[in-house]
Amino acid sequence: MNHTKYYKGIDIFRVVAAFLIIAIHTAPLSSYSETGDFIFTRIISRVAVPFFLMSSGFFLISRYNYNDDRLRTFVKKTVLIYAVSIAIYIPINIYNGYFAMDYLLPNIIKDLLFDGTLYHLWYLPSSVIGAMLAWFIVKKTGFKKALMITLAFYVIGLFGDSYYGISEKLPLLKAFYGYVFQVSGYTRNGVFFAPVFFVLGGMIADQTIHTSLQKSLMGLLVSVLLLVSEGILLNRLGVQRHDSMYILLLPCMYFLFHTLTFWKGHQRAFLRTATLVIYIIHPMMIVVIRMCAKLLGLQTLLVENSVVHYLAVSFTSTAFAVLSVLAFYKVKNSNTKTKASVINKERAWIEIDLNNLSHNVKVLRKAMPEGCELMAVVKADAYGHGSFEVSAAVSRMGVKSFAVAAIDEGIALRRYGIEGEILILGYTNPARARELYKYNLTQTLISFEYAGFLANQGYKIKTHIKVDTGMHRLGFAASDVDDILKVLRDKKIYVCGIFTHLCVSDSLKAEDVSFTKMQISSFYQLLERIRMAGIEPPPIHIQSSYGLLNYPELKCDYVRAGIALYGVLSSPHDNPHLHLDLRPVLSLKSQVILMRAVRSGDSVGYGRSYVAKRDSLIAILSIGYADGVPRNLSSENGEVLIGGHTVPIVGRICMDQLAVDVTDIPDVAVGMTATLIGTDNSNSLSAAMVADKAGTITNELLSRMGTRIIHSIT
Ligand SMILES: *Cc1c(COP(=O)(O)O)cnc(C)c1O
Repeated sequence: MNHTKYYKGIDIFRVVAAFLIIAIHTAPLSSYSETGDFIFTRIISRVAVPFFLMSSGFFLISRYNYNDDRLRTFVKKTVLIYAVSIAIYIPINIYNGYFAMDYLLPNIIKDLLFDGTLYHLWYLPSSVIGAMLAWFIVKKTGFKKALMITLAFYVIGLFGDSYYGISEKLPLLKAFYGYVFQVSGYTRNGVFFAPVFFVLGGMIADQTIHTSLQKSLMGLLVSVLLLVSEGILLNRLGVQRHDSMYILLLPCMYFLFHTLTFWKGHQRAFLRTATLVIYIIHPMMIVVIRMCAKLLGLQTLLVENSVVHYLAVSFTSTAFAVLSVLAFYKVKNSNTKTKASVINKERAWIEIDLNNLSHNVKVLRKAMPEGCELMAVVKADAYGHGSFEVSAAVSRMGVKSFAVAAIDEGIALRRYGIEGEILILGYTNPARARELYKYNLTQTLISFEYAGFLANQGYKIKTHIKVDTGMHRLGFAASDVDDILKVLRDKKIYVCGIFTHLCVSDSLKAEDVSFTKMQISSFYQLLERIRMAGIEPPPIHIQSSYGLLNYPELKCDYVRAGIALYGVLSSPHDNPHLHLDLRPVLSLKSQVILMRAVRSGDSVGYGRSYVAKRDSLIAILSIGYADGVPRNLSSENGEVLIGGHTVPIVGRICMDQLAVDVTDIPDVAVGMTATLIGTDNSNSLSAAMVADKAGTITNELLSRMGTRIIHSIT
């Protein structure tokens, strides 16, 4: 899922890590102090690569992540980046005489898989192999055992790296590592080194261990000091074959990464791409700097002075990364702009991405236990997405059961031609029993009394019994076994399901988890008592979206998925157990219909609540609260995206229009698209973020989308 809790700290530390990696390859302090340089580049900087591995693990490996979609995407992307990097460095390989070496083919294979075709590139194959191994082991054995297993790999790695001096003295071990080094030049590779960091990253994401910020910082401080001591000691003893792997690196990485997760804020997608480019390109910049120095006769300064050399490589690599990423965005930008300037555009519209919808269906199905069916919850016009389009699309994927809240929603689906079971989750006037029957709708029995009313209408209607296990909204009390048995035995009622609803399944607080478990067990106890009375219970269901995301192990006949089907979480602060790769289906868009310059001191909109503090450029968008933009976003720093930039909403949002301040962004023009929910280039405004700002949850935001705006289906 678009991990909606944004970890600013992780994104920002990427920059630090990138510069540490440049340090490893340029030894910045070497002109001044050999010990200082060893401590900085050979010990401290060794946190950089594990950090990158952990951040991949953090987003990739999770206890409940049984489905491998994310892994597959990650592997594909990394292999592609690796291929491009290999290609970029072929000239340097040629220059170094790489292709003239003996045993070329075996060496190429060895380099491709483990060592990298240029020194720094080993990281890419290692992260592919490490991610796959870690994912597989976690899936098979769970986190605790996976940590043990990958730790064991790491220890094997240690004795071929910083502790090799010891292994070398023992003939058996020496022989063993002899074989290892034939296949992989070092033990810091995808097998011995990377997996444990992926697992650790996943464990932190899953919050399997709880540490406070204070403890985490203390732990970091202590483990860094011990790490430095370990490094110096090993170096003095002269046992290091290589210096990538230390014992203390593990606690150090755990505390470092954990500390960073406390630092939340806007995501920095730009930094992610830019640091990757820095990583890949810096060896090229080392060559470039050397060449320039030679041409200009500046070797003493640019190459021999280690600090200047380091700064020069860092600066050129950063400049290259920033410029190339900006250029990339610019190209993407210009594409959208040409599309944006076509006239005759609607005033506001909702874009529905059916590919993402069917992707979500697949992902949810994979996460459900075998034999369990997806019940698509399409109430409230499919959470604003359009109930017909959504139901038709998921029907084509074989979904055979639907849930709505009201009878008229059910009838509308039948009139559209939707087949299969349609369960009405809420109250229906019993006097409409004939319609329930005629349209073959399934009615929830919300109480014993209600069941009686319905039974007396003279139609044998399909029903599901709703059981109240603690939500105290609709349903028979779970203790009313006698009433439930009466209904099950009543010949006038056709019961084809029994279900309950969880009221805190979204929360992972201990008390909420135990409440949920209580709800689940009282439901199962009820089923047991029905069985003891000699009746086999009808098909069961318990989970809605969060029920599945947090309690995927339950084995039911249906999962009633609403919000997750639409690819979003209810709130950006949620971090459910199951990190599924769900993709948002809905975007909300409008366009700039008018540009207006206002003077400092002028007000914009109703109530004159906004007064320009400077001469400003205001763009008016043809969308308002009647179209689904919450009015209280005006006072909560609401934002929209135009031309890939984030711009603030100013003044009160009107029923049909709103104003944004575009003074700070270039080239805004009438006809440009404004994104209120969705993605524009590298920037995105997730529904969860917008809902959170408006003080509500995504479910409400989406289900209150205006009905007067058109839907564009792709
Ligand atoms: C709306 C509703 C759902 C769907 O909930 P989501 O959290 O959107 O998945 C499931 N069950 C019942 C009873 C509902 O009312």
